[in-house]
Formats: sequence, C-alpha cells, structure tokens
Amino acid sequence: MTQVFVVNSGSSSIKYQLVDLESGTSVMGGLIERIGEPGSFIADHVEGMQIVLDELGEGRDILAVGHRVVHGGSAFAVPTLIDDAVEAEIDRLSELAPLHNPANLLGIRAARAALPGIPHVAVFDTAFHQSLLPAAYTYAIDAELARTHQIRRYGFHGTSHKFVSEEAARVLGKPYAELKMIVLHLGNGASVTAIDGGQSVDTSMGLTPLQGLVMGTRSGDIDPAVVFHLKRHAGLDVDEIDTLLNRKSGLLGLTGMNDMRDVQEAAQQGNADAELALQVWRHRIRHYIGAYYAQLGGLDAVIFTAGIGENNALLRRRALGGLAHLGIRVDDDRNELMSREARVISPDGARVAVLVVPTNEELEIARQTASVV
Ligand code: AMP
Repeated sequence: MTQVFVVNSGSSSIKYQLVDLESGTSVMGGLIERIGEPGSFIADHVEGMQIVLDELGEGRDILAVGHRVVHGGSAFAVPTLIDDAVEAEIDRLSELAPLHNPANLLGIRAARAALPGIPHVAVFDTAFHQSLLPAAYTYAIDAELARTHQIRRYGFHGTSHKFVSEEAARVLGKPYAELKMIVLHLGNGASVTAIDGGQSVDTSMGLTPLQGLVMGTRSGDIDPAVVFHLKRHAGLDVDEIDTLLNRKSGLLGLTGMNDMRDVQEAAQQGNADAELALQVWRHRIRHYIGAYYAQLGGLDAVIFTAGIGENNALLRRRALGGLAHLGIRVDDDRNELMSREARVISPDGARVAVLVVPTNEELEIARQTASVV
C-alpha cells in the first residue's frame, strides 16, 4: 500500500493527485474548478470531493490523504496527523492567511467526512521555515504587539524549497547536511530561501506571501510607509491597498501583464515598461543572493525552480549574469538544454554549483504524509 492521495483545496477549486511513493509518480490527478460559483453545478467542497472520489474509483488502497495547508503559524513545524484539535488550530491560524487556510479547511473537512477510515495529514507551506532563528524572523516593531498578534516572518513555499534542495544534494552527490544553498523558487509566486545544512535559515516571504521578490501580481518588498502614503494621498482604504499590493502589483502593476512570457516578449519588442520590470525583477533577486551569501558565510549551490526558474534559460542567465566574482557562473550550453530532469548548469569546476531542479510539491507532500502514518 504505497499510494498517497494529495489534496490542495482552494477557495473555489480542489487540485488532487494520487501519488505512488515507490515510483515517485502521479498515478492520476486533476482539478475541480468553479466550486460554489454562480452557474456552476458544484455547490460546495463536499460535492467537489465526491466528484473527485468518484473519479478515484472504489477499491483503491490508499495509505493516507495528504493536505496542503498554507499557514501553520508557529504551531506546526512538521507534517501533522489531523484530528479535531488540529483542525481547530488551522482554523485559528486563518487570521494569518484569510484567503488560504479557510479554503484548505473546506477540503480537509470534506475529505475527512468522505474518507473517515484513513489517516489525514496536514503538510504546511510554512513548516520548513520554522528553523529560522529569532534574528531572522523578528520584525523590529513593538514586541508586545507582535507577540499578541503573532506578527513575525513565517515564510512560504517550504515544501518546494525542501524538495528541490534535497534533490540538488542528490544530484551533486553530497550530503544534504553539509551544503549551503540558495533556492530561487520563481513561479507566479516567488521566494528565495537560504538553506544551511538542510535547515532554512532565511527566506524572503514574511508574515504573508507578499514580502520579497517581484511576483506575477504581488509587489514584494516595499517601504511600509508606501501604505500610509497611499491611504493619505491616493485615498485608498486598507482593503484597496491590500488588493493593490497582492493582486495588481508585481509584473502586472509594472506592465499590465502578469505572465512572465508576455513580459519577456514585450521587452524583446522594445516595450520600455516591460524592460524595466525585468530589471527590477533581476535587481531584487540579486539583492537576496548577496544577502543570503553573507548570512550563510559561504555558498555551494544556487537552485532554480518553479515556472520561470525551470523553463526560462534567458532569465536564468540574466538573473545570475555578472556574478562570477562570487563564484556564480552559468554555462550557456548547459543552461539552454531543455529537460524535465534536475541538472547542473554551471561549468565544471565552478566554485558554486548552479542547478535547475523541477519542483514536485505533490510528491513531497505524499512523502511527508507517509512519514507520519
Ligand atoms: P508556477 O507558479 O510555478 O506554476 O509558475 C507559473 C508561472 O511561470 C507562469 O505565470 C508564467 O509566468 C511562468 N512561466 C512558465 N513557463 C515560462 C517560461 N518558459 N518563461 C517564462 N515564464 C514562464
């Protein structure tokens, strides 16, 4: 019995995969969309889950169900067997992830009701970063207020950062526990993590997934005073500013386009806004590489993953160009080779290995789920 059912429940969608642990492959999978939306025939997550289970079929021998949960706060540093108390704690943490945790919970409740006989495990996006030390996760604000409202850096994409860094160690043939690495997860959401001996020691996302790199629609780092300025001088209220920074900023805000492929094409055709967006995107990445190199006190590997990181050789080269003084170099032929495999793209003998490692969050969730049951 080596199959784990992985569920990623969003506010109006359920993404699912049946992962075979022995082969490390997905046996089946899919996406149910538009749950509860006007005109949709799927009323709620219970109905959605029933459709998923019908598709899954009878008589499957499933070891456990692994649920992706976005925010585990400071409560969850490891994958956790779900009972009513864990459900309640995930609910309580909705304060920190109002869009994500309630949606994750809908999936958990529907799946636990439909599959009561097997263990359900929560795998948290924040868990891998619970190893951050106070110096890295503390914001320099009123300490009492921060404690009361759980305000600190948590970090996200942890499942991906963990998976690709372990894969990179395997590809390099070196012990994970001895490597200093910087992982660039560059997808629609994007984050950088510094990993020392298999522990996350710093990461660019913060209390929420808004901080850090330039993303598809998120601003990443800004001076917090921009928020006051927008309120006082642009007449926006807090919810409008939230929407602006989370949904209308980043590449979209700078260019009107949120897909990096479109931005790159526009830049190639001479669109000045698109070119500037690429420069800001690159500038921010290099800011973090420099910072994390210093924090790590050395560097063995830089790893690219997710939509942009896995697929775009030109942007990888652009991101790391001119960093030879740090020992970071990219071999153009290796970089341009298209592949679905984890691979090294730095030249032989380079001080820092540069790798492309396709992420596989479902497989990582399945593995972590199995580790608990
Ligand atoms: P992810 O969030 O990892 O699924 O990544 C999705 C994002 O990756 C999309 O929004 C695209 O902007 C980006 N992407 C995918 N393929 C490419 C590519 N070949 N070049 C640039 N960006 C890409």
